[in-house]
Amino acid sequence: MISIYNYTLEQMIDEFVAIGEKKFRATQVFEWIYRKNVYSFDDMNNLSLDLRNKLSNIYSTNLLKIVEKQESKDGTIKYLFELEDGGLVESVLMIHDYGRSLCVTSQLGCNMGCKFCASGLLKKQRNLTAAEMVLQVLTVNFDTQNNVSHVVVMGTGEPFDNYDNVMNFIRVINHAKGLAIGARHLTISTCGLVDKIEMYAHEGIQTNLAISLHAPNDDIRDQIMPINKAYPMDKLREAIKYYISKTNRRVTLEYILLRGVNDQLVHARQLAHYVRGLNVYVNLIPYNAVDEHGYQQSSTMDVEAFKNELLRLKINCTLRKEHGRDIDGACGQLRAKKVGETSCKSSQKVK
Ligand code: SAH
Repeated sequence: MISIYNYTLEQMIDEFVAIGEKKFRATQVFEWIYRKNVYSFDDMNNLSLDLRNKLSNIYSTNLLKIVEKQESKDGTIKYLFELEDGGLVESVLMIHDYGRSLCVTSQLGCNMGCKFCASGLLKKQRNLTAAEMVLQVLTVNFDTQNNVSHVVVMGTGEPFDNYDNVMNFIRVINHAKGLAIGARHLTISTCGLVDKIEMYAHEGIQTNLAISLHAPNDDIRDQIMPINKAYPMDKLREAIKYYISKTNRRVTLEYILLRGVNDQLVHARQLAHYVRGLNVYVNLIPYNAVDEHGYQQSSTMDVEAFKNELLRLKINCTLRKEHGRDIDGACGQLRAKKVGETSCKSSQKVK
C-alpha cells in the first residue's frame, strides 16, 4: 500500500481526481493530517464512511515504528525508526532557544564515501521516499506532543542524490496547508553535487542551503571527499556563485576541523581566498570522532586560531555548538544500522 504522506497537496488532488473523488476532499485529508495531526482516515469525520473505507484500502497512514530512543544530557533525542521494509533510520531532535530542530535522514546508507563520516560506512541501500522523510517529522511530533519548528536534512545520506523525493518532502512540510514550516527554517546540506545545486537554484524555494566544503584546496578535498574528483572546487565555486545569483540567498559553507589535515593557518588563508567575493558564511564544525576512521579533533587552540584568522581576513564565520555527542547523535555520527545492531548506551526502549 502506498503511503499517503508521499504527496504534496497538488499531487494529492491529482490522486483524488484519478480515483473519482472531488478535489476539495484532498484538501480536507491534507489538513486533517498536517493541521490537525490526525493519522487515521477513520477519524476524519467530515468524510463519508464510504470514502474513509475507500481511502483506507488504497493508502496507508501508518507512522514510523520507534525502535529506540536515546536522550542526551543536553536534551537532544536520537530516534531509531524502523521502516516498512525493516530498514532502520535515525533522526535527531535538538532543542534550541529558537525552536525544535529535527535532523532528518534522506537515504538508507550513503555512497558519497567521505573519509571522516560514519554514515557512509554502510553503502547506500536505497533512497528514502518522501513519505519516509515526512514521517520522521510526524512521528517525532506525535511522540513528543510538540511540533518540530526547524528541519535540517543533515542526517544519513546525500539529499541531492535523492533529489525528487527530497523536493517533495520539502514541499509537503513547507506548504501553508501542510506542516507550514517556513522555508527559512529548512536547511538542506549537500556534499557538493554541482549539477543539483544549479537545479536547486531554480526550484523557487527560499530554504537555506549548506555545503560541506571541509577543505581549502583540491589536494586535501580529494583525499577526504571522493565527490571532489567529480566536482572539483572551482566547479563547486561556480555553482555556489550561480545559486546565490539566482536566489539572492546567503549560503553556508561547512568546514570540519581535522587535526593536522585542514586546520592550520595556511588553510584558513586559502579558505578565505576561496570564499572571497561569495555571499557565504563559514560554519566551523568540531570533528566528532568516528571509531573506524583515523581522524582526530583539532585542539581548542588551533580551532580558535583558525577562526580568528578567518575573522581577521573579514570572513563571516561561526563555530558550531554540538548537540548530543554523548549519544552519537552529533554530525557525522549517524549510521544506518542493521537490525540487532542497535547501540544500548543509555537507551530507553519505547513501545
Ligand atoms: N550528505 C550531506 C548531509 C549529511 S552530513 C552533506 O555532506 O552535507 C551533515 C554534516 O556533518 C556534513 O557537513 C558532514 O560533512 C558533517 N560530518 C560528517 N562526519 C562528521 C564528523 N565525524 N564530525 C563532524 N561533522 C561531520
